[in-house]
Amino acid sequence: SAPDAFSIASRLEAGLKGAPRGLIIDGKTVSAVSGKTFATHNPATGKEICQVAEGGAADVDLAVQAARRALNNPAWRDMSAVDRSLLLNRLADLIERDAQDLAVLECIDNGKPATLTKAVEIEGSIKTFRYFAGWPTKFGGETLPVSPRSGAKILNYTLREPVGVCGLIVPWNYPMSMAAWKVAPALAAGCTVVLKPAEQTPLTALRLAELALEAGIPAGVFNVITGFGEAGAALVDHPGVDKVAFTGSTEVGKAIVRGSTGNLKKVSLELGGKSPQIVLPDADLDAAAASIAAGIFFNQGQTCTAGSRLYAHADIHDDLLARIADHAAKLTIGNGLDPSVNFGPLVSEEQWDRVSSYVEIGQREGAELVIGGSRPQGLDEGFFFQPTIMANAGRDMRIVREEIFGPVLSALSWSDPEDLVAQANDSDFGLSAGIWTNNLKQAHRLAAAVKAGTVWVNCFNLVDNATPFGGFKQSGWGREHGRQAMELYSEVKSVWVNLS
Ligand code: NAD
Repeated sequence: SAPDAFSIASRLEAGLKGAPRGLIIDGKTVSAVSGKTFATHNPATGKEICQVAEGGAADVDLAVQAARRALNNPAWRDMSAVDRSLLLNRLADLIERDAQDLAVLECIDNGKPATLTKAVEIEGSIKTFRYFAGWPTKFGGETLPVSPRSGAKILNYTLREPVGVCGLIVPWNYPMSMAAWKVAPALAAGCTVVLKPAEQTPLTALRLAELALEAGIPAGVFNVITGFGEAGAALVDHPGVDKVAFTGSTEVGKAIVRGSTGNLKKVSLELGGKSPQIVLPDADLDAAAASIAAGIFFNQGQTCTAGSRLYAHADIHDDLLARIADHAAKLTIGNGLDPSVNFGPLVSEEQWDRVSSYVEIGQREGAELVIGGSRPQGLDEGFFFQPTIMANAGRDMRIVREEIFGPVLSALSWSDPEDLVAQANDSDFGLSAGIWTNNLKQAHRLAAAVKAGTVWVNCFNLVDNATPFGGFKQSGWGREHGRQAMELYSEVKSVWVNLS
């Protein structure tokens, strides 16, 4: 029978002990120039897994130089579209081959349950590479019907060129997916990249770059600099970087915009959210409760699209809340290596303190704790926090306005439909929204009225490589996935040819 996740974790951990994990620059594994390393921890136990190289500005510079050489290397620059597509598919094959190991590696580094990680994140990343493997052979320019005043006969067409060297900075909540969402379209467009994973979760990014080399992607095309925010900032500041793609907090997103002005590099941002779940009185409450619970508790609430603000109609508010609380109570909390666990620890002690402080703030401001709010009984080590519901939340409370990024649902009740839309849109964020109703007119009216990059009607958190993903307002700039992602990683050139 296949080895279980605990034995895979022991094998991986034994392999990681000893020498620190290095940076990946120009196809080689190297130490940081400073020689510095930092520890990455298992959130289920709080124990160190291994040391990882702490990249800084000098390492970023070496990686950017390698990425620039690779961009101009004929082996990559002049590669046919079919060959580029084959390489991305080969990388997808290798992720598929190692899916179980990658899921367990993510579980020990991030805390998220291994079974869910394999089904959602690793399978999702395979699909992302396969989807973008389809683009190189289909992504081109257009011939356009221009009308010059002189009456000259003109041929006008557009070309698509890679934007160049891309700095990709990703967070810890979905480390593998966030890397795949950026690396796949960047390579499909012919760019080269320097990936900076989050300091809490550096391990799968390093494996992904190793697999890319094994797949035959030329050295220097895909570099990885592990380290802290300073390494990210050095990438943003570097004049040799043409584009930065960032997923993370709105606060750091703003710092990235400020830091990128030196060479006005292109910037795309996927930032925070505070997504409303809007429930009308005619909704299917069974379906809504199950999906709303999953929408806030999946990944321990550490999801940018988490449906963290519930607007339940007054007539069904109490009934719905009781059903969501039932789902919360049924979650199996524990070490994510256990296949029966579907709710793991938060990523770090810092995150635990943050979530816990929001529960206190909510109570102080007058919200009522319905369920959860603290460490689950019997789980004394690690960063475990119960799934939590706060009722009687008010529109101006911090638990309604700020992104908690943890398993905390803030519930409000409504009865005036006009005020409902105003409340749902009364947020700095605009990443996503859920609408629950069986009334077709109301569903489409609300979908149009809500200010969000993604609207889910009678479903939640569906994501697909084919459809654009990103935020309105302070939830970001640009859209990942689909043709929009290919556009993010390319420049368009308009060519005029005088045929007269
Ligand atoms: P974070 O912004 O603290 O860190 C994200 C990354 O940026 C890390 O790699 C970090 O090292 C790096 N960084 C930190 N300071 C930097 C600086 N000054 N310059 C450059 N890089 C810097 O975010 P986090 O806590 O890791 O992740 C949680 C946030 O990510 C949440 O706000 C969440 O909503 C957001 N998120 C958004 C999406 C989306 O698609 N919109 C998806 C996932 C997560």
